[in-house]
Amino acid sequence: MSLLVMKNDQEGFSASPPRAWAEVRLGDLLHNYGVVRKHHSSEIMAVLKAGAYGHGVVPIAQALESLPAAEAPKFFGVASVGEARQLSEAGLKTRIYLLGPSCDFEREEVVARGWTPCLSSLEEAEDFNRLAGERDGTLAVHVTVDTGMGRGGFLPENLLGAIKKIREMKNLYIEGIGSHLPCADEDDAFTRDQFDRFDELLDSISEESLSFYHLANSAGILNYKSRWANLCRPGLMLYGISPMPHFQDELKPVLSLKSRVTLVRSLPAGHGISYGREAVLEKETLVATVGIGYGDGYPRFPSKEKSDVLIGGVRCPILGRVTMDQIMVDVSHLPNCKNGDEVELFGENILASELATTAGTIPWHILTSITPRVERVYL
Ligand SMILES: *Cc1c(COP(=O)(O)O)cnc(C)c1O
Repeated sequence: MSLLVMKNDQEGFSASPPRAWAEVRLGDLLHNYGVVRKHHSSEIMAVLKAGAYGHGVVPIAQALESLPAAEAPKFFGVASVGEARQLSEAGLKTRIYLLGPSCDFEREEVVARGWTPCLSSLEEAEDFNRLAGERDGTLAVHVTVDTGMGRGGFLPENLLGAIKKIREMKNLYIEGIGSHLPCADEDDAFTRDQFDRFDELLDSISEESLSFYHLANSAGILNYKSRWANLCRPGLMLYGISPMPHFQDELKPVLSLKSRVTLVRSLPAGHGISYGREAVLEKETLVATVGIGYGDGYPRFPSKEKSDVLIGGVRCPILGRVTMDQIMVDVSHLPNCKNGDEVELFGENILASELATTAGTIPWHILTSITPRVERVYL
């Protein structure tokens, strides 16, 4: 017998499956896409920013692009040129829309690749016009109007003037007008008024119709109607989470975050669990250690209130603080719990929105926090 030494090749054994992984059910994505179509009868911009909300942008884009042409999204919405580049370089054909303004040094790439920017200022418009002129082409652009988000767009009173000026720019073509909703899941009166103001604004500039008018995110799609909007921009609901509890039944959560039990031990009363010894056992407890932590994007709860995890379909409360790579859970009611058992952190049974509430955050944040260490597995 000799001492086994470290080696870098993988001869004579098979690599272990991942410790923590995210199952992504593409069939459920298409189900949710169908729900968007049911609620909003016109065209769809699938919002794929932040790696398709943590689901992995290329597989999600491919699944949506493979739909029949009449149903497939008209645009993929992304946050930055870096995200746009990922889609272009993966060979996707659906038009790419940049949801926010770009830095001046990014604009040449936008024009060269034919991505569609939304404009918030005449300075951007002039720059895009110049760059498109250098390439002897016409760039399709959308104009954004700020009806209350305060993040970008022309103020409503300046919209008409801006459109006039942009129409004079030879190398730009205004294809659409968009706006965004700051509180469609929080403030009904404001959002209703915002829809009305959007529609009235478009009534006032309708002398020449454009191809696309859009303002609704998921909450806007589910709860409101615009007379003008003929394109919607769903994000969260595509991934099966409703911003409002009452639509959750229609949707199927696409992603489940999973890991495995790495250790099960009985610990005596009085034993502390995890950093800070926030939890001290009141009685003898069967404690399982699970191989996932905040280094995987699982939240670190701000208060003593913690979420449950699911082992064998049974809820088990988290004990003490979440650490970078491991969490401890009470499995006293699961005497057969053992090393290797699968654990659901969130997904179909514990919704990302439920976990978000316990963690003092929002489901968008829960989904986009999953780190690269977590392998995405597509089903
Ligand atoms: C992120 C985003 C969306 C999608 O919002 P959801 O609430 O996830 O549906 C739509 N429009 C814009 C401009 C966005 O930035």
